[in-house]
Amino acid sequence: MKPGWYILNYHNVDWEDSILTRALGVTTRPDVFRHHLTTLGERGRFISIPEGQRMLDSGAPFEEAVFSLWFDDGYSGLTEYAFDICASFDIRPAVSLNARFTLREEMFWRCKLAYLAHADGMRFVRAKLRKKFEAVPFKIRTWTLHHFCDDVLAVVDEVYEACTDATFREDAFRIFATVDDLQRLSDAGWLMSNHTAGHWPLAPGLGWEAVEREFDLCEPFVRRFAPDNPYWVVPFAYGSEHYREQLMARATVVEVAERRNTSDSWKRTGRIFRFDGPKTRDVLQALT
Ligand SMILES: [Zn+2]
Repeated sequence: MKPGWYILNYHNVDWEDSILTRALGVTTRPDVFRHHLTTLGERGRFISIPEGQRMLDSGAPFEEAVFSLWFDDGYSGLTEYAFDICASFDIRPAVSLNARFTLREEMFWRCKLAYLAHADGMRFVRAKLRKKFEAVPFKIRTWTLHHFCDDVLAVVDEVYEACTDATFREDAFRIFATVDDLQRLSDAGWLMSNHTAGHWPLAPGLGWEAVEREFDLCEPFVRRFAPDNPYWVVPFAYGSEHYREQLMARATVVEVAERRNTSDSWKRTGRIFRFDGPKTRDVLQALT
């Protein structure tokens, strides 16, 4: 493998996939996850995010392949499955948090859509969107990312409320790790970072004010665990180019870009790149 710092981005690690996440493709099976780590461990060593950052900052070229893990969104499989597996390889990953999910204040709007797809509710979302917006296509998943704004969110919320009851909505939060779960990870040396309060996409129409507010709303929660957090992790790996200068003026921007980090990439871009962790067993294929 080429020398450099390879960061793999995962979400949940679990045997089951909830109907709130199944359509999102965020769940890696524990045996597959363990297989990835075994394969990577045979090709290089695992380092923590601060260690990798120090190597980038030093400016010295990487002489070997080194690996780190980064989990997004704070799912409950982190403490249930990923924690023990990572501990057995002596890996301390990073986690990017969405404060409103962990605090049970708001369900991830994408999980609401995933549930509605399961419950045949997308036609209601589509009909309501078509009343408010022009040219809404049949498949609305990508459209809602690119056109995300308060009105889109209001439609998703309204249909989710209509298609679920309060008991279901409360119970649904167990897909996310709790504050205590995250504390346990943090106590074991896992690094917490900012993934915005509610995982809104950085759509062009959202505006910098809303983007900055969503990161700022999450930051105090992250800083309970990581008082000097430098990392803002872009939701959906989408749209950072719309706000790049403003984002980089506030934080170290972390993206998914299917490329390794080198002293050179860091000097040139000032950003941290990650690979999407594959759902299949062949992890090396994802890193080339
Ligand atoms: Zn995410």
